[in-house]
Amino acid sequence: MDNIIQGISNFRGNVFPGQQDMYRRLVRDGQQPKALIIACADSRVSPEHITQTGPGELFVCRNAGNIVPPFSQQNGGVSSAIEYAVIALGVRDIVICGHSDCGAMKGLMHPEALKIMPNVAAWLRHSHAASQIVCEAYPEGMDPKDRHRALALENVVVQLNHLRTHPSVAAGLAKGQLRLHGWFFELETGDLLAYCGAKGRFVPFTEADDEFPVAQAPAVRVAAPEIAGSLPHAAE
Ligand SMILES: [Zn+2]
Repeated sequence: MDNIIQGISNFRGNVFPGQQDMYRRLVRDGQQPKALIIACADSRVSPEHITQTGPGELFVCRNAGNIVPPFSQQNGGVSSAIEYAVIALGVRDIVICGHSDCGAMKGLMHPEALKIMPNVAAWLRHSHAASQIVCEAYPEGMDPKDRHRALALENVVVQLNHLRTHPSVAAGLAKGQLRLHGWFFELETGDLLAYCGAKGRFVPFTEADDEFPVAQAPAVRVAAPEIAGSLPHAAE
């Protein structure tokens, strides 16, 4: 803990005084984060660090395996964070961020190792669809490293699908007011892959690209456009 305590002391003594105005502004005006990011709790995957953002810029929710349980009547921390970010804070972008060398994905590959961690095992059931996809749609006898990587990438896509089951997200998407992103952070190289919904696969994020690949671009999508056409949000 020594390092952490020293860090607090440094923050209070040297950092905060220079940032006090910013913090006061954030209290006066309230937070207006640009995005909700759901990332793995892994200590090496810090969303603020990867995106070089500061206080007030990201609404962050982290858990083992960057999982979004599908919507259910049972209350949960992830569901509450999503609802609050979308409805109260009005975020327009939601990111699911997976990463390489993910321990949760290793647990998924080796359920026998989770016998002494029943809560982790139960939590990871929200990723079983990713396991099944890798089992059935990828070649048999894959190198374990490739299998682990495929699993982590497919897991991001599965969690994006779960995200759409949340009423606040479903409504935001129908109104064309939300954009969904699937990211994958490569610890070894610092590279970021982004899921391109149009191509159905991950592509490298390069600053040279004109448009950042998105999992789902904002577009009004209603099943009864002849009725929705008369509603105000359709014109936004
Ligand atoms: Zn992880």
